[in-house]
Amino acid sequence: MLIQKAFKFRLFPTEEQAVQINKSIGCSRFVYNHFLDCWEKTYKQTGKGLTYNTCSKALTQLKAELPWLKEPDKFALQNSLKNLSKAYDRFFKKQAKHPRFKSKKNPNQAYKTCFTNRNIEVTDQTIKLPKLGWVRYARSRQVKGRLLSAFIRHVPSGKYFISLVAEAEVKEHPKTGKAVGIDLGLLDFMTLSTGEKITNPKFGRSMEQKLRCEQRKLSHRYEGAKKRILKQKNLTLMDARNYQKQKIKVARLKEKISNRKTDFLHQWSTKLVKNHDQLVVEDLNVKGLLKNHHLAKTISEVSWAEFVRQLTYKAQWYGKTLIKIDRFFPSSQRCATCGHQDGKKALHIRKWDCPQCGAHHDRDVNAALNILHEGLIKPSIEG
Ligand SMILES: [Zn+2]
Repeated sequence: MLIQKAFKFRLFPTEEQAVQINKSIGCSRFVYNHFLDCWEKTYKQTGKGLTYNTCSKALTQLKAELPWLKEPDKFALQNSLKNLSKAYDRFFKKQAKHPRFKSKKNPNQAYKTCFTNRNIEVTDQTIKLPKLGWVRYARSRQVKGRLLSAFIRHVPSGKYFISLVAEAEVKEHPKTGKAVGIDLGLLDFMTLSTGEKITNPKFGRSMEQKLRCEQRKLSHRYEGAKKRILKQKNLTLMDARNYQKQKIKVARLKEKISNRKTDFLHQWSTKLVKNHDQLVVEDLNVKGLLKNHHLAKTISEVSWAEFVRQLTYKAQWYGKTLIKIDRFFPSSQRCATCGHQDGKKALHIRKWDCPQCGAHHDRDVNAALNILHEGLIKPSIEG
C-alpha cells in the first residue's frame, strides 16, 4: 500500500536562513488573514464566498502592490490559500468551526512548501529547501520514498523543525493469529486482555512538577515586568530579559514532556499492531470525559485520543484490523468468564469476585477481556 509518511528533524538554520524562514511564516499568515477578510467581506456583499482560484489570481495582483510578498517561498503562500479554502470547505460541510484569523501568538508557527523539480534535496547533513538553500539538520533516520512536501516550523522554545512528507510503499506485517482487547485506564495507561498492564511513563510526574514550578516563576516575572513597563513608558515586554529567558525555559520543558509522551505512544502503538491481527478498543468520547475536572488532567496526560489515532492508521498501514466498540458498553460490569452481569463498580474497586462462577477478577483485565470478546463478536465500527 502507498502511504504518506512524515519524517521530522531538527533544523539548524544560519541567522540569515532563520530570518528567511520567519519571513515565509509571517507572509503565509498575512496571506491567510488577508484573504479570510476578503472572503468574509465578499460573502456579506454578495452572499457567496471566494474560491481558491479567485484568491490565487488576486494574490498575483497583491504581489505587484506589495513587493515584499515576493521575498518568501512562493509555495508557502499558495499553500496558505489552499489551507484557507480547505478550512471553508470543512466549515460548510459542518466538520469544523468557522475559520479564524491566525495569530502571531499561536505556538504553531509554520509554512508548507512543495516538491517540484528537485527543489528539495536531502543529504546526510543538509536539506536543500526553496529560498533557503542548504540547511543543516540533525539526521535521526533515513528519508525513504518520493518527496511530496515539507513543513517548516518555528516552535516557542526557539527551535526550528522540518517534517518531510514522502510517499512510500509499506508492506503488511506478517499475520500473528492473535487478537487483543485494550482497556485504556486512569490508573494504568492501559491494560491488555493478556493481563499485561502498561503504566504511564514515570517521568511525567516529576517533570510536570518542575514545569509547574517554572510556570509560577514565569508569572512572577511577568508581573514584575508589567510594573516596570508601567513606570517607564518606553519599555516593552521584549525588554524584560529575565521574563523572556524564563518563557523559553518553560517552552523547552513543555517540548521535552510532549516529546517523551509521543515516543511512549508510538512505541506501544507500533508494538501492539505488530503483534496482533485484531485490536479492540472502546470508542472513547474524550471530549465528554474532559468536562469532568477531576479526571481531566490524567486523561489529557495519557493522551488516549492520540493513541487511538495512531492505532487506527498503523493498523491500516500494516494490514491489521482495529475494532472500536460502543463506549457505553459496560466493560467493567460483566464477568468475562461466565458472562454474569454484575452491578456498577466505583472507581476505587480494583478487584472483585463473580457471585455466579466465583472467578476472581482484576477490574481492568476483566474489562479488557470483555472489550476483546465484544469486538470479536460484533465489530460495530471498523476503523
Ligand atoms: Zn462469572
